[in-house]
Parts: sequence; structure tokens; C-alpha cells
Amino acid sequence: MREELQEHTIADPEHIAISKSTGIKIDWRDGHHSDYSLAYLRDECPCATCTGAHGTEPQKASYSKPEPFPMYKPALRMNSVEPVGQYAVRIYWSDGHSTGIYSFDHLRRICPCRACEAQRENGAFR
Ligand SMILES: [Zn+2]
Ligand SMILES: [Zn+2]
Repeated sequence: MREELQEHTIADPEHIAISKSTGIKIDWRDGHHSDYSLAYLRDECPCATCTGAHGTEPQKASYSKPEPFPMYKPALRMNSVEPVGQYAVRIYWSDGHSTGIYSFDHLRRICPCRACEAQRENGAFR
């Protein structure tokens, strides 16, 4: 039962609730529920710049990590969220970043809930 689920994770959102100041919540069609904070989404930006996909140094954001030397940072917000076809959303961040296209597959893969986190640690998604 479990194995099947992992093999065909159906990233199909039933309902998406977007709050520009707190984050995104998704109810998936298979009954799963994901709750993404802004900082988490920004850190998990899938664009080439953040992930270093073009052989460049990854410039991953670190909004969700505590700062060793806290400096003033304006609060992160989403300026807007735009659907991309049927399969993704593009997020325009208040820090000027907007190249990340968050496919629902990606979102489902980075679901921050404890069950999914445990699965990622077991390597189920790699
Ligand atoms: Zn990015
Ligand atoms: Zn989850």
C-alpha cells in the first residue's frame, strides 16, 4: 500500500489557499494536507539560480534558518502568485525574486509535514 503511494505520488491539488503574508496551504486530492510557510517556500525555490542548475554556485535563500548574526531583514512576503498552466504556480517575492516556478510535483515533494519529512529522510523521494 505504502510503496504504491510513493511510486505514484499524485500531485493534484484539490484546494489551494494563498496568503501573501503567511504562506500557502494545499489540500491534495488524495486527502493529504500541506502547509508551507513563506520562509520555507522561499528557501525551497526550485529556480536555476537557487539550485545552481546551470553549474553555477547555488544561491539558496535561508529565510527559515536562524541568523547567527541577526541583521534587519524586511519581512518576507509574496507580492503575487500566478498560475502557470495547470501544473504550477509562480511566486513573486518581496525581495525581488520571481524566477521560481513551483510545480505541484515540487510542492508535494517538499511538503513540510512530519510524515513527508520522515519519508524524505528515508530517501523515498530521491
Ligand atoms: Zn530561486
Ligand atoms: Zn506531507
